[in-house]
Amino acid sequence: LVEAVNLHKHFHGVDVLKGIDMTVAEGEVVCLLGPSGSGKTTFLRCINQLEIFDGGRLYVDGDLLGLRESGGSLHRLSEKHIAQQRRQIGMVFQRFNLFPHKTALDNVIEGPVQVGGVSKKQARIEAGELLERVGLSERADHYPAQLSGGQQQRVAIARALAMKPKLMLFDEPTSALDPELVGEVLAVMRELADDGMTMVVVTHEIAFAREVADRVVFMDGGVVVEEGKPADVIRNPQHERTKTFLSRII
Ligand code: ATP
Repeated sequence: LVEAVNLHKHFHGVDVLKGIDMTVAEGEVVCLLGPSGSGKTTFLRCINQLEIFDGGRLYVDGDLLGLRESGGSLHRLSEKHIAQQRRQIGMVFQRFNLFPHKTALDNVIEGPVQVGGVSKKQARIEAGELLERVGLSERADHYPAQLSGGQQQRVAIARALAMKPKLMLFDEPTSALDPELVGEVLAVMRELADDGMTMVVVTHEIAFAREVADRVVFMDGGVVVEEGKPADVIRNPQHERTKTFLSRII
């Protein structure tokens, strides 16, 4: 579903992604591990076109992202076309980024109603189902400030799902949470994975990666250092950099 080919990104002359090659199959859950600054967030943001990559190619479901080929050269897509591509991808951030003046339900219907062209009535029905799925039916009318961090993050997941994405990206979704709230968010993510959602998850939750990921990818210094089945990479890393990283966080 996702294919990155020799992906490059630099900020002010500093190479942050130095040729990432990665594929994610439909229904696969891939956890991205790696030290701070290794480029994990930048890679996710390139997939969601929150950053424009500088070189290489990125495909989602066979669509070349951000670019079109014509007459043997590449051109940037229009903003409208990019917005269409972005809609197929749900993203959940470290900070929940809910609209503070809207209830949980209204946060979830915002996307489908404003950009998806779904009627308010239909969007409310679907949002109710999604809030139930993340265990928050009772909290539909609460405002973000009335919810715990874990509940807010679950609303954020429901909001991303409301656009019926093909792919879900998670950027350290539990790292801003108090430890006792981490489990409820991971449980929702685990269910999504069990339901067959394709997911790319940047996380430091090694237990989650070990249990839920089909594959883990270890990045360092803007490159993929090592990847494989969680049991292999986590229990028996081959590269020195992976060993050092894992020994620090486990
Ligand atoms: P973390 O776990 O800390 O989020 P990461 O592996 O996700 O780390 P990135 O956030 O992708 O790493 O950052 C990679 C490098 O790119 C860092 O050195 C960062 O300072 C730099 N960087 C990221 N975004 C920008 C930006 N908008 N402008 C300039 N530099 C940036």
